[in-house]
Amino acid sequence: MHEITAKSVYSGIAIGKIKFYDKKPHVITRTSVEDTDKEISRYETATQAAIDELNALYETAVQKVGEANAEVFHVQAMMLEDEDYSDSVKNIICMQNVNAEYAVATTGDNFAEMFAGMDDEYFKARSADVKDISERLIRVLAGKSEKSALGEEPVILLAEDLAPSETVQMDKSKLLAFVTRCGSANSHTAILARTMGIPALVQADISQEYEGFLAVVDGYEGKLIIDPEQSVYEAYAQKKQEEEQKKALLSELKGKETITKSGKRIQLYANIGNPNDLASVLENDAGGIGLFRSEFLYLEHDTFPTEQQQFEAYKKVVQTMGGKKVIIRTLDIGADKQVDYFGLEKEENPALGLRAIRICLTRPEIFRTQLRALYRASAFGKLAIMYPMITSMAELRQIKEISKAVRSELEAEGVKLGEVEEGIMIETPAAAIMSDELADEVDFFSIGTNDLSQYTMAIDRQNAKLDPFFDAHHPALLRLIQMVCDSAHKAGIWVGICGELGADTSLTEQFVQMGIDELSVSPSQILPLRKVIRQI
Ligand code: PEP
Ligand code: MG
Repeated sequence: MHEITAKSVYSGIAIGKIKFYDKKPHVITRTSVEDTDKEISRYETATQAAIDELNALYETAVQKVGEANAEVFHVQAMMLEDEDYSDSVKNIICMQNVNAEYAVATTGDNFAEMFAGMDDEYFKARSADVKDISERLIRVLAGKSEKSALGEEPVILLAEDLAPSETVQMDKSKLLAFVTRCGSANSHTAILARTMGIPALVQADISQEYEGFLAVVDGYEGKLIIDPEQSVYEAYAQKKQEEEQKKALLSELKGKETITKSGKRIQLYANIGNPNDLASVLENDAGGIGLFRSEFLYLEHDTFPTEQQQFEAYKKVVQTMGGKKVIIRTLDIGADKQVDYFGLEKEENPALGLRAIRICLTRPEIFRTQLRALYRASAFGKLAIMYPMITSMAELRQIKEISKAVRSELEAEGVKLGEVEEGIMIETPAAAIMSDELADEVDFFSIGTNDLSQYTMAIDRQNAKLDPFFDAHHPALLRLIQMVCDSAHKAGIWVGICGELGADTSLTEQFVQMGIDELSVSPSQILPLRKVIRQI
């Protein structure tokens, strides 16, 4: 038995035989040619054929992993048309009197190296795409068609690296898991694996010697276990069986509509606190993300996360969700979520203190950085922004002023922005009572019942000693929720619940009757809740 630790990009257990995907690179020989025009024409014909292949791949990928994730193939097709790339190839052919294969390979290596050396993570990641398109061109020039890495039997695929085009073309029924030596959790290949729901590990110290061995991929712990001992094998077999039973029970509800018997459709979204939660969002068939608690970015860092770091994190989430709505809540630090580097003063009543939007409005530079990152990420999917802890119209006006200025600034810089819905959390009694006026100013409401309960009943949500006084179904709370629903609908906007109460199935029917349009709950609660809604 041999155990290798690696970075998990998608959870789950896989047990099966190892197949090593040995991508023998095409051997490129440098041949002298007389007729350089003919070589250029061969290169141009191959380019068109490669673009046609990529367009076909795009169509396949849209079906398998959604439009946003398929976009990589459009990007690659565009790279093939890039003038710098083609000028370089043609120049090598003409200046050195060499064959097209050699010119493409040399250009591919040069460009890949150049991208890899860039600081910007986005451009760094393009290095793999340049290699991918160059190999595609060389294969087309050699008159060969694409072949799959997989055989008849389902396998755990080990590879040095996998290109996005290889990943998406793999037949899922033949692939138990994949493990690569290269690749990052953010690479397109990893995003595709997550979207396809395949247990996957990257940065694993693998070797061809493992070919044919029985192995276990533990995507929860990030482990590849080769030739497991009997007891280890049995423990994993048991775990896998339990995983499958659980899935089977609920998977009948996957792909089904979240609709009541009387025909009312509810948007059923997921709450997440970290991009690592995305796998379970997709696995549980959420219609979107109703609350992405962006605080994690601030809590995980020792200093303020930069605009670029935030942009990358938001982009990853919207891209992975492939066109489904992602509602990102702006910073909600303070109260129970303290971060030293914010240098916040100690307060007598932190829950009633400087927290969430109040920090953002007091220190607009922090807010502006986050908004810039959010608007930039909006070009990559369906992003919505939600502001927490609102209590007044004045706060909303200030927010709008800042967000408008940020948008204009980005537009002036020529940054591409998407359409962004902007809404607020209703989590203070003040916001609930003022909801009729606030509704005219926003695109949606999301009720944060965790805080709305604490502020309505004056019960510190952190204080367990107050449990005997706490009533999760307090009539005052339910009346406020009804009030918010009515205000929203009067103004023609949608309203959801993203607090824990949204998953309380003893209230689901009542929420539907109140007119709630959306429920956002933790990923594992999605399918059980769908089941309840479909029975109403
Ligand atoms: C809420 O208050 O209900 C909510 C969803 O926000 P948080 O729990 O992060 O305060
Ligand atoms: Mg809250």
